[in-house]
Amino acid sequence: MNRETSRDIYDRALDVLVGGVNSSVRAAPQPYPTYVRRGDGGHVVDADGNRYVDWVMGLGPLLLGHDLPESVEAGVQQRASEGPMYGLPTELEVEHAEFLARHVPSVEMVRYVNSGTEATTSAVRLARGHTGRDKIVVMQSGYHGAQESTLVEGDAAERGPSSAGVPAAFAEHTIPVPFNDEDAVTEVFEEHGEDVACVLVEPILANKGIVAPVDGYHETLRDLTREHGALLVWDEVITGFRVGGLGCAQSKYGVTPDLTTFGKVIGGGFPVGAVGGRTDLMEQFTPVGDVFQAGTFSGHPVTMAAGLETLEFAAENDVYEHVNALGRKLREGLRDVVAEQAPAYTVVGTDSLFKVLFTRGGDSQSGACDDGCRQEPSCDRFEYCPKTGADVARGAVERWNRVFRPQMRDRGVLLSQNQYESQFVAYAHTAEDVERTIEAYREAL
Ligand SMILES: *Cc1c(COP(=O)(O)O)cnc(C)c1O
Repeated sequence: MNRETSRDIYDRALDVLVGGVNSSVRAAPQPYPTYVRRGDGGHVVDADGNRYVDWVMGLGPLLLGHDLPESVEAGVQQRASEGPMYGLPTELEVEHAEFLARHVPSVEMVRYVNSGTEATTSAVRLARGHTGRDKIVVMQSGYHGAQESTLVEGDAAERGPSSAGVPAAFAEHTIPVPFNDEDAVTEVFEEHGEDVACVLVEPILANKGIVAPVDGYHETLRDLTREHGALLVWDEVITGFRVGGLGCAQSKYGVTPDLTTFGKVIGGGFPVGAVGGRTDLMEQFTPVGDVFQAGTFSGHPVTMAAGLETLEFAAENDVYEHVNALGRKLREGLRDVVAEQAPAYTVVGTDSLFKVLFTRGGDSQSGACDDGCRQEPSCDRFEYCPKTGADVARGAVERWNRVFRPQMRDRGVLLSQNQYESQFVAYAHTAEDVERTIEAYREAL
């Protein structure tokens, strides 16, 4: 496979873009990133003209794939041609919010922003403003964007910033706990309960492998927050309108958070974020309340058109049936491949998310969940399937990154940039893409 053009563009990029890229994870592929010329359905074509089955799908936003349905394309083009934005409101943002409020259990009102990072930043500020408390509880290895309050590592006893440039004071106020560990979070509430503004949690750890919740974990978080007057904030930036269909992960798991953050899918491929929740909480944002929140590009007409048309297309067509069925096919097929060739590995994911984690331990897949790890205590592999981000990190991460992913790329299958990022099925993917991908795994594993 000739990749010379990608190599040459990267060479130029290293002079003018830090690390050659604009988001760190894009530099992870060795020895250099694949530069995209264009998308086509479920595929991308790179700068050298090579075609790949694309499971990156923008790292989440592209529910429909690279070819937008006519209604979405028309909506985008019309808004762009009528002047891209105004700094004045449009009816579109009202319609988009009406759609969210109609379908997502926890949402009565919405505030739009321009990224998932802005959404979690605003939600945390709202929780602090509402409760008058400073501390927040997050999951170790959870990801909520590049924001100060969540770039924290360690545990309740000892913690610090996970990035240079973040004042230690942020880490003082942010308490990381292991996902799926009811005792750890209960202890934190026993000690700090009166100071905790919110628990901020992804329904599924979807940025560190894919780790499903153990039965009862989210209910415990719901009970603890309620008991101690803290808010429960679900970060559905990845899972929103992907897991659980139009009702999002909160409808799938039957837990209603106080606030929900969105991003990715709701912008139809354009930059977006949103916070949603009950009216009494949401009205604490300015201009009604006193928690300041603003943005020049927020509610951008092109984004709102792309997002609304995408969601309406999903509501009116068999989008979720299609992507979830292909997701299941992938997970089932990959479990068979893993059983034969790498029985210590774990197939994870749900709905249209999938990944093979290079876990260690357990020499058989017999009795394993057949549609992605669901943390079933009765499963023979229960003790080996990752429950926390740290469990995922103990896998053969370098093998995945340096040996496995490049082999898949050479076979024309593009996986996400490292062992930790999810992979996404889109409406444009076909049964043939799935079969080709399973075959490529069979050869590369
Ligand atoms: C992607 C992501 C974010 C950050 O969103 P950006 O748009 O990249 O700022 C936040 N939370 C979760 C769960 C995400 O997956």
